[in-house]
Amino acid sequence: MDYEIVIGLEVHCQLKTKSKIFCSCPAEFGKPANENTCPVCLGMPGALPVLNKQVLEYAVIAGLATHCEIQTFNQFARKNYFYPDLPKGYQISQFDLPFARHGYVTINIDGKEKKINLTRIHMEEDAGKSIHGENLGQPEYSYVDYNRTGMPLVEIVSEPELRSSEEARAYLTELKAILEYAGVSECNMEEGGFRCDANVSLRPRGSEKLGTRTEVKNVNSIRFVQKAIDYEAERQAKVLDQGDKIVQETRLYDSDKGVTFSMRGKEEAHDYRYFPDPDLVPIIFEDDWLEKLKSELPELPEQKRHRFVKEYEISEYDAGVLTVDRSLASYFEECNSLYAKPKVSANWIMGDLLRELKNDDKEITDCPVTPKALTDMLTLIDDGTINGKIAKTVFEEMYQTGKTSEEIVKEKGLTQITDNSEILKIIDQILEANPSQLEEFRSGKEKLLGFFVGQVMKQTKGQANPGIVNQLLKEKLKAP
Ligand code: ADP
Ligand code: MG
Ligand code: ZN
Repeated sequence: MDYEIVIGLEVHCQLKTKSKIFCSCPAEFGKPANENTCPVCLGMPGALPVLNKQVLEYAVIAGLATHCEIQTFNQFARKNYFYPDLPKGYQISQFDLPFARHGYVTINIDGKEKKINLTRIHMEEDAGKSIHGENLGQPEYSYVDYNRTGMPLVEIVSEPELRSSEEARAYLTELKAILEYAGVSECNMEEGGFRCDANVSLRPRGSEKLGTRTEVKNVNSIRFVQKAIDYEAERQAKVLDQGDKIVQETRLYDSDKGVTFSMRGKEEAHDYRYFPDPDLVPIIFEDDWLEKLKSELPELPEQKRHRFVKEYEISEYDAGVLTVDRSLASYFEECNSLYAKPKVSANWIMGDLLRELKNDDKEITDCPVTPKALTDMLTLIDDGTINGKIAKTVFEEMYQTGKTSEEIVKEKGLTQITDNSEILKIIDQILEANPSQLEEFRSGKEKLLGFFVGQVMKQTKGQANPGIVNQLLKEKLKAP
């Protein structure tokens, strides 16, 4: 059977406040277990939550940045369930009155734009972390770390409008970029600051009715989300092809084995006995405050992409690569303020620079080659001091040592050879050393020009000006 895959994503994103959502404990990662806790986030009887105003502001900015309708009246609700990492026995979340609805994220695949609608965004507190003794050689014990309880989150729920794992990847990448650009989250995936539940179902292609979904919980890498979806789609197709039914359930992804497995049956909203949290007053936004936040929104990835295409005349694709990360985009813009050929800087950044960073597992913010250093080198190419091929070596050396291109060229004597008589001398040597190729060339095998150019470049360690070499060689080869 030919199936269509249907995906809806729920993303939990940690807002980058200094303190937790309802108490003043630091919202930091990596502290010794249970150090960042107090009676409020430990759920002691009688302790009262107080909403962190900065959480509200960041949340609303996230809503505005994703084109949501901000709900001027919204409210926190208790989601009741028992779990050792949830000391109160309920999680403070939002239910029927979330602060944002009906937004969208625009994704771009192969130059084609598609709007993915958002159902809602709500604020909630994070739970703690259970640590099971099996991994510590203590199978009879389990531990719990409450440092993460009360970390401020927004949950962003998409409509089931994604149609491939590739679209899911594009959606997550774009959403992450929007939240980073908007300055509301670090989206640190390794630390659980941006994680995704993927809801996946299949339906016969052409059918309107949604199939039964499974939900793969808490995947914290975009690549793994993509793999988990692909695995789930394949697994479900097998089940359906056998004539069996999909069980609606919550599953987990094992990234080592590359498989999903059942965690628990799916609970429904009514199982949680939601009710308005009586400890927290409803929230009413004032228009002036919303207007102020709206007017202060920074340029977002989509706008920046469009501006880059227009202003720098680079392709949609290049603009996409250069704006995924706000710091990378600034790097590119700084290059453009120093050097007037955006396409050339774009190619160097997207090619050599990103390759080196990737090899080193480094971020652009840690790049040892500054925009000034890179564009100085590009100027050396333009004024003929070095050729494009040598520039690759120079760049690598700049990256490794942090030296300037000028220093490297001087130290290693990499200046381009543009002196015709010097190049002619080498050409003569090469022709003399390769008489049979010369004869073949002269009897019509003109493809051999490439061979001779290669020999000359080799002899000059790549430093000859390739244009001059080509021209002089042609003249020499044709002359009897
Ligand atoms: P819950 O918290 O129970 O998972 P939500 O309504 O918060 O429910 O989230 C449901 C998510 O699942 C949404 O992202 C939605 O788009 C997606 N979804 C709902 N039905 C399907 C389906 N049949 N196939 C794929 N995704 C679905
Ligand atoms: Mg869900
Ligand atoms: Zn606390």
